[in-house]
Amino acid sequence: MTETPHVALLGTGTMGSGMARSIARAGLPLRVWNRTRSRADPLAGDGIEVADSVAEAVKGADVLLTMLYDAAAVAEVIEEAGDALGSDTVWIQSSTVGLDGERRLAALAAERGIVYLDAPVLGTKQPAENGELVVLASGPEEARGTVAPVLDAIGTRTLWVGENGAGSRLKLAVNAWVFAVVEGVAESLALARALGLDAALFLEAIRGSGVDAPYVRLKGGAMLAGNFDPSFALATAVKDAELIDAAAREAGLDVEVLDAVRAHFQRGVDAGYGDLDMSATYLAHEPRRVAQEPSI
Ligand code: NAP
Repeated sequence: MTETPHVALLGTGTMGSGMARSIARAGLPLRVWNRTRSRADPLAGDGIEVADSVAEAVKGADVLLTMLYDAAAVAEVIEEAGDALGSDTVWIQSSTVGLDGERRLAALAAERGIVYLDAPVLGTKQPAENGELVVLASGPEEARGTVAPVLDAIGTRTLWVGENGAGSRLKLAVNAWVFAVVEGVAESLALARALGLDAALFLEAIRGSGVDAPYVRLKGGAMLAGNFDPSFALATAVKDAELIDAAAREAGLDVEVLDAVRAHFQRGVDAGYGDLDMSATYLAHEPRRVAQEPSI
């Protein structure tokens, strides 16, 4: 077990940037790399080194953390690491990659003789910045000691859920719920508005009751305020909804609510809201014009 592991983090997007700051705040030496360097540069200093290449970032690291868009991106950068990625590095894979993606990355790790943990996270931009994610970790028990300081830095809680792959399966089940909540709130606000009410009355009506939740107020409030700064981009939510759909198909389960939510998120992406937060699905809820009976 390494007391203070040297960490490499690949991918400093919305989530990776916050996770990097949390790791550095915990006093762990950290090197980061991002494909678009300008997105990593603001992290430089305060214990964070920005590497010019994947190989430079991972060289000598005790723990590697990947937080990239999808499985293809992760596989690409692991290949790019080449021999610089040593077999004594433990790899925490936290991007949301679905079942096929997880199997592909586990196989890649096995090919290269790297210890690999499938460990997606719950929480979004602000929890990532605050070190308040929930880590759904799975994988070999003997690696847990090495990665503990990193997982403690990025999250308030690590839930060990079993063998590799279990973390990704649980992540899909949780995201199906998150998406249903976001779309449900958007639809109720749109319905209130279409029925001639002040949409804010929906949030006021449920306030403090059993069907209220901090997340409902957060996302509903953002929809009403028209604040769609991305914490979790709508296009990324469509990517994740497709992963859930593929997993459900593999398991022989119909997920009709998820399918409807995915179709509506896609409508938002088609309307040009893909880079906005997923709460921008609200913008794609415009009522159709109802044909008026001709008055004689
Ligand atoms: P993001 O802001 O879009 O960042 C994506 C990252 O992936 C960026 O660093 C991007 O690099 C990199 N990337 C994409 N394609 C690449 C490629 N082919 N080669 C190398 N790098 C590539 O996304 P995010 O919101 O941080 O999400 C990251 C992952 O976490 C996703 O799997 C997402 O589903 C998952 N997740 C997100 C949230 C959330 O609330 N946002 C919560 C939990 C899990 P560039 O900067 O160069 O584009």
